[in-house]
Amino acid sequence: MTSASLAPLVDQLPDGVVHVALPTPFPVGPVNCYLLVDDPVTVVDPGMLWADSTQIIEAALTARGHAIGDVDQVLITHGHPDHFAAAGWLADTAEAAVVCGRAEVPKLTQATDRLSMVDTVDRLGVPTSMRDTFRAFYEGVQKLSHPIDPSRLRVLDDGDTLTAGGRDWQVHVTPGHSVGHVSLYEPGERVLLSGDHLLACITPNPVLEPDPDTVEGRRRSLVEYLASLERFIRLDPLLVLPGHGPRFQDVPTLTEAMRHHHDSRADEILAIVRRLGDATPYELSCELFPHIKDFSVMLGVSEVVGHLDLLEDAGKLSRSDGRQPRYAAK
Ligand SMILES: [Zn+2]
Repeated sequence: MTSASLAPLVDQLPDGVVHVALPTPFPVGPVNCYLLVDDPVTVVDPGMLWADSTQIIEAALTARGHAIGDVDQVLITHGHPDHFAAAGWLADTAEAAVVCGRAEVPKLTQATDRLSMVDTVDRLGVPTSMRDTFRAFYEGVQKLSHPIDPSRLRVLDDGDTLTAGGRDWQVHVTPGHSVGHVSLYEPGERVLLSGDHLLACITPNPVLEPDPDTVEGRRRSLVEYLASLERFIRLDPLLVLPGHGPRFQDVPTLTEAMRHHHDSRADEILAIVRRLGDATPYELSCELFPHIKDFSVMLGVSEVVGHLDLLEDAGKLSRSDGRQPRYAAK
């Protein structure tokens, strides 16, 4: 969902933090990259090998008296290509470490991992022709990426501390938008680097995440996402630096607006289920988002599946057995 800001916006940046907006070819628009210019010099989410992205990073480092070789580490908040596709290039150029959440490693190092999503959507009723579109999308993204040398990887777990840009940051790993998504919190100045977990103007998509160990073959991304929000309310940051869009404050107001959005979206989907009698998640996404196409269909199906999980937990829906379950109102 894109809307006006759900929380009050803030203009300031902490000392030693530089923001650059890097272009992406995706509808979400630019990705926010943060340069933490004190030691160890750290680049958070260096974007993609797209347009003049890498020159923007180099110019911003130069303006702060650094060469690209001064970069010590590249932090990836999560393994979506708009955030990490250029990380391998930057790390190889600077001989820097690549730091990410442990569960994100397969997305960063195995091109085939993203293709496993193609199999996950099969269970959700997505037609074969559409799955071929997803496959083509992933292959296109691969061309805007530079491989990451696995020997450069340093993994983070929830509760770790990461020293970056002259500050000690608490590591918060919270699934929902991506299973190993990392946010960094500096409790002294109460600054949160939130990646895509908290955004001022968009409710983060509960992106489908394969999980072969479950009956559904996937994680329950929106359920997990909503469960994480209380933690960020308790952190009570004064300043949130997100992965897209403007900086903001007041996480309680943001989370309340997001919960309200998800409640009304669930009601909307339940009404469609009642109208159709029973339906697959793909059929529901076609009703809910009749105009989306290409890879956005994947995001539309993710959005629907997340809310079906909420409705099922609330006892409002039943799900048939079989490889492509259908949902019906109770
Ligand atoms: Zn993103």
